[in-house]
Amino acid sequence: MSTQENYDDLDFDPVALREKYRLEREKRLREDGNEQYIEVKDDFSRYLDDPYVAPIKRDPVSDEVDVLVIGGGFGGLLAGARLKEAGIKDVRIVEKGGDFGGTWYWNRYPGAQCDIEAYVYLPLLEELNYVPKEKYSHAPEILAHSSAIGKHYDLYEKALFQTQVTNMQWDEDTARWTVETNKGDKVRARFVAMANGPLDRPKLPGIPGIDTYNGHTFHTSRWDYDYTGGSPEGGLTKLKDKRVAIIGTGATSVQCVPHVGEMAKQLYVFQRTPSGVDVRGNSPTDEKWAASLKPGWQKERMENFNALVSGVPQAEDLVNDGWTDLIGKMLEMFRKGEAGDGTGRSLPEIVELANFEKMNEIRARAEELVNDPNTAEELKPYYAMFCKRPCFHDDYLPTFNRPSVELIDTNGQGVDRITEKGVVVDGKEYEVDCIIFGTGFEVGTDYTRRAGYDIVGKQGQKLSDKWQDGMKTFHGMQSNGFPNCFLMSAQQGGFSANYPHLLNEVAVHLAHIVSHMKANDLTKVEASESAEAAWVEGIISGEGPAMQIGGEGCTPGYYNNEGKPNPKLRYGAFYSGGSIAFWDLLEKWREAGDFDGLEFSS
Ligand code: NDP
Repeated sequence: MSTQENYDDLDFDPVALREKYRLEREKRLREDGNEQYIEVKDDFSRYLDDPYVAPIKRDPVSDEVDVLVIGGGFGGLLAGARLKEAGIKDVRIVEKGGDFGGTWYWNRYPGAQCDIEAYVYLPLLEELNYVPKEKYSHAPEILAHSSAIGKHYDLYEKALFQTQVTNMQWDEDTARWTVETNKGDKVRARFVAMANGPLDRPKLPGIPGIDTYNGHTFHTSRWDYDYTGGSPEGGLTKLKDKRVAIIGTGATSVQCVPHVGEMAKQLYVFQRTPSGVDVRGNSPTDEKWAASLKPGWQKERMENFNALVSGVPQAEDLVNDGWTDLIGKMLEMFRKGEAGDGTGRSLPEIVELANFEKMNEIRARAEELVNDPNTAEELKPYYAMFCKRPCFHDDYLPTFNRPSVELIDTNGQGVDRITEKGVVVDGKEYEVDCIIFGTGFEVGTDYTRRAGYDIVGKQGQKLSDKWQDGMKTFHGMQSNGFPNCFLMSAQQGGFSANYPHLLNEVAVHLAHIVSHMKANDLTKVEASESAEAAWVEGIISGEGPAMQIGGEGCTPGYYNNEGKPNPKLRYGAFYSGGSIAFWDLLEKWREAGDFDGLEFSS
């Protein structure tokens, strides 16, 4: 263990920071962990209502399709696109929103914007011959691009919108899935792709009195523009005479607070844990650059970005932004540490010091941009980088300099109470006309709770029963006993900070297996028991990626199950070799052509 004397060469005190992080974490730990949140159902189910389109009325559909895709976000669109490209035409997407877009359909709050560079984040840019207008696209452009993908690949014709799956059952005799919905549909499908995404179900904070409030409320993922006026671009004119509370200061609130702060008569931002907010630096797309792009540019750029954020050195940093800088710097320290930096410090200590330095920069930014020293101090995050989602914004911190905006820091405890009139912290009641919940989405709750249905496989086996001790798949995509069903996620597969990149790799793999079966008249495929067992063993015994997010020593949040280790969640880990190795493994598996680990029948 180092002593403080070892740190004379540094201009900060790592021992004091370590202790500060520990104390900040400890005061946030709660016995109820992930149970602290209210499930959005029954009396709270109105928080799920779609404010963006009128309800669609249509007759129930009863027919058969080759592939039914559940979810019309980027995962479902990519599945549809790659299947169509592989010659599978009969594809139906079932989507609970009123259009394609998934997270970008729901999250239309003012200021919503991608924070992975748009040129690598938006899928299928070359296929659609489109270059985003800015380095970081705003939500309307992303929603429009989702719709353009749907049109380009003819995915609208068969799609069922505003439709939620209620039941999904395998029939061994006909080798078909029967999928039922809340619109009375009964669709038989040879294959089902589960593209229902990880952060789709809003959650509410379990604050006492939440149901007693008499004012207006909504969740950020169902923004009420009728109430606020304006649009995702801002201009919330109807808030001019309103006192507004925003509860939560995660990535969503960081983006919408500047707009609400600009227009509301009074804004109170209720904070439990501050986000780390780094420089954004958005810019319009350089048209000359866009015109100079050569075929293959998006794949090359996506791979370059993913390599850099995975710690694989590249000759050039094509994206060159907060992510590549951040992770690049940390990995550089890591490499220096491996080589020894001449101080005698251990590798983990060198990495920890690099992390402290980066977070010192983020904390200094709060001091630099926020005039009131107390508010600036309260906005400083005291936890390690990657304990929570890093945020990037140029207007969030300065918003607290507006006389009409007040940060109400709850010292890690959260809001005490909600009354008929407003929000109480530390005995003081803040009367407001409206409460906006920027309190995020369910993570780590059971699949059946989030989806609202179970998947019933061979011999009536429920997926929730099979997975009661943890997820079990082969390659993160197929589960024994659940033939012709493909999961599209990062769990037990490769994780990338650029989520659409991983969805694309999974979609390509799905299309490969399905087109092989169509070409060879094969009716059924499932993971063999032994291949699945070996894959699961590999996942749970893996060391995890070098850049581990949300470790147990972190401040609580959804990255670490609110600070409560849950052995079941180990099964949902990512492939320990990282996304590049995982996608390489899938590609070699496809090239080998023997479909090792799968069992087919005709
Ligand atoms: P988060 O889960 O990140 O944030 C929820 C917020 O609510 C936290 O600040 C949390 O505090 C706070 N909170 C919860 N309970 C209470 C309480 N009782 N009292 C006071 N505060 C409370 O949700 P977001 O919607 O912000 O973001 C979710 C994810 O969506 C992000 O992590 C990111 O992955 C994604 N996202 C991506 C964007 C992009 O790409 N551009 C933009 C926005 C979101 P605490 O931290 O203490 O738990």
